[in-house]
Amino acid sequence: MIRKTRLFTPGPTPLLPAAQFAMAAADIHHRTPEFRALFTKVLSQLKDFVGTSNDVIILSSSGSGAMEASVSNLTSPGDRVLVLTAGKFGERWTGIAKAFGLQAEVISRPYGSTFSLDEVKAALTPEIKAVFVQATESSTGVRHDIKGIAEVLKAAGSDALLIVDAITGLGTTHLDMDAWGVDVLIGGSQKAVMMPPGLAYLAVSEKAWARMETSKSPRYYFDLRKERKNAAKGESAYTPPVSLIAALGASLDYIAGQGGGDLKAGRAALVDNAETCAAMTRAAATAMGLKLFAPVGYEAAAATAILPPEGVDSGVIVKGLKSKFAAIVTDGQGEMKGSLFRIAHIGFFDYLDTIAIIGALEQVAIANNILPGLEFGKGLIAAQKVFAEHVK
Ligand SMILES: *Cc1c(COP(=O)(O)O)cnc(C)c1O
Repeated sequence: MIRKTRLFTPGPTPLLPAAQFAMAAADIHHRTPEFRALFTKVLSQLKDFVGTSNDVIILSSSGSGAMEASVSNLTSPGDRVLVLTAGKFGERWTGIAKAFGLQAEVISRPYGSTFSLDEVKAALTPEIKAVFVQATESSTGVRHDIKGIAEVLKAAGSDALLIVDAITGLGTTHLDMDAWGVDVLIGGSQKAVMMPPGLAYLAVSEKAWARMETSKSPRYYFDLRKERKNAAKGESAYTPPVSLIAALGASLDYIAGQGGGDLKAGRAALVDNAETCAAMTRAAATAMGLKLFAPVGYEAAAATAILPPEGVDSGVIVKGLKSKFAAIVTDGQGEMKGSLFRIAHIGFFDYLDTIAIIGALEQVAIANNILPGLEFGKGLIAAQKVFAEHVK
């Protein structure tokens, strides 16, 4: 049979055709009125997409570049900071903090779990200058309680900046940066905005802009103040990937369209979409007799991490889906390889994609006899019911 390659990965995610067309057409110079109009429009759209009145900065890098920029622009060597980690991306915060000579206190929880707010509270001494965390930990499919963490900071009267990697949180989780008091919220292009890798963006609070005036860590290319100054004139400090900016504009137009032309409503619709796809997948996996990695109530809508049956390597499922259906799902990252697989819902996924991957998963499970006694349709029926309940 024909096999169409389809990504079910939490970045890169499937591409929006309109974004691809916009990229192909974008042969404009970056020091022209045409580019300034495009960049100004995209920056303003991004504020609505993030859901903030803070300035948003675009960087030419993958998401990790914005993670590094938030460290290099907002800290000084020797600063005491708190890192909350329960997965591969949390560990990246620790790595960046160490690279910049910070004294990182790390609350490290096992993969597949999250932190208790009490332990965050206990670790939040007055010396802590910044707290780093993921909104959703893509390596484990777990959502962290950003609102709860922000409240802990507020209640403690902490002066620490709250810096959130929302690279898979944006577009899959309801986040209210301004109301909660998040200082930096980071996104990446190859995730919810349905376009190729290469852009990172971050919203920065006034408190964080003020901190930048005194922070001393070295920075040059990722200098947020320089980018902010240039962005006010519709430009970036260095040559931007013009085609990716055009793609981002097209994607944000599409997302606005999902909200009847209103980007904030479109973002909410995108979150609902991911939540519906995720709920269908969780119900299907459970009905098939598979276990989920994330604790109940903390499942990320960005991606569902599913455990293979005991004694089965998740690679069998990952390889089976690829060889039989050209469906690309991800195995566990790092030490988690072989022990879980992840199906993404972030960005340009719909009902048919979700039903298809569940159907394919049934085929692979039955062909490899990894769930003895499983009958066709178990997962699909559960997913159908969830869809019917969610979408009227
Ligand atoms: C994808 C991702 C990143 C960034 O990874 P890059 O490869 O640098 O784009 C960071 N954090 C999370 C949670 C992610 O999912």
